[in-house]
Amino acid sequence: MKNGNWKTTKNTTIVKHSELSEQTTKAAPKNSLTQKIHSPFWKTLLRQSAMYDVIIIGSGPAGLTAAIYTSRARLKTLVVSGVTWGGQLMLTAEVENFPGFKDGILGPELMDNLYKQAERFGAEFQFEDAAEVDFSTRPFKVKAGNNVYEGQSVIVATGASPKWLGLESEQRLRGRGVSVCATCDAAFFRNKVAVVVGGGDTALQEALELVRFVSQVKIVHRRNQLRASKVLQERALKNPKIQFVWNSTVHEILGENKVEGVRLKRTDMDEETTLKCDAVFVAVGHEPSTQVFRGQVELDEKGYVVVKDETRTSVEGVFVAGDVHDYRYKQAITAAGAGCKAALDAQRFLEETS
Ligand code: NDP
Repeated sequence: MKNGNWKTTKNTTIVKHSELSEQTTKAAPKNSLTQKIHSPFWKTLLRQSAMYDVIIIGSGPAGLTAAIYTSRARLKTLVVSGVTWGGQLMLTAEVENFPGFKDGILGPELMDNLYKQAERFGAEFQFEDAAEVDFSTRPFKVKAGNNVYEGQSVIVATGASPKWLGLESEQRLRGRGVSVCATCDAAFFRNKVAVVVGGGDTALQEALELVRFVSQVKIVHRRNQLRASKVLQERALKNPKIQFVWNSTVHEILGENKVEGVRLKRTDMDEETTLKCDAVFVAVGHEPSTQVFRGQVELDEKGYVVVKDETRTSVEGVFVAGDVHDYRYKQAITAAGAGCKAALDAQRFLEETS
């Protein structure tokens, strides 16, 4: 696939769209982008937009590794990175288990390295969120910002985002003491008391980050057994600034304009208590970022992309990598490996269909 081919293809695409048969239009899934593309305004946008061999949606370890591989294979690559690019590692302090960094590396530094590595081989970046996609016909279309981009293949690598508890008080006090990112917000709570909700790796890592600033961390967990890895458990359990509140869930975050405490309910008995604190860090897992793909690729009941044969989705030419389909491993290194596989599969697909 050479860039030169696309000049003609780009114009052909516009013609093709204006000549779409009634049957083709009806066969396409109902999607506002598909409908808008037929309007003159969208045709203008398409005419202005570029054609890519691969459009990668997402810029965590999966997306950026895919970009390194596709751009190094001389495929014209666009990364629609999201407004907040870099994925979850941008919210992580020390990454100790990514191979190759014997002393660990800061999450944002690792992502910056991956970004520069992809850019070095010619990957282009669009720092916008993918607002709509149309995977009904090739070339696939991705709307981001004011542009529609066309790609002969797509790699979906949008990852997952932190879950919230779903409390009214939680949303009201977001940014006023309620957070999902200790790396970002811990320094605002010097010598204060923080509650962390959850019992997984994220919760313990948040607590261990917080103790560098706060006077005390109380980890509220709904069971009496942690889900987190042993090494993090050992560190948290022996830290004198960290206490555990077992068998409890947060039912309300207290405070008008800032966090003043939490109302807890026991899960093993009928009892409610109140705990004073200045901040609440929610770390109860993640959910896949797939809203934009609904109706375009097959998703499972939890919203994860259904994967076939390693990296393939229900649409031929659309591949998937990382936490957006993987709820089992969910590690930066497995996401990076999946990004590599998706890139190689996309390359093979383009060779076979060009
Ligand atoms: P997990 O799904 O592993 O843990 C979520 C935690 O939140 C669980 O303890 C769960 O309780 C609890 N929880 C879920 N919903 C609620 C709720 N509504 N109310 C109260 N508690 C709730 O998510 P993580 O984000 O911690 O980790 C995700 C993945 O990322 C894992 O694979 C983890 O290993 C990985 N990770 C690795 C890190 C590292 O290696 N350094 C750092 C961070 C994450 P219960 O246990 O009862 O289900």
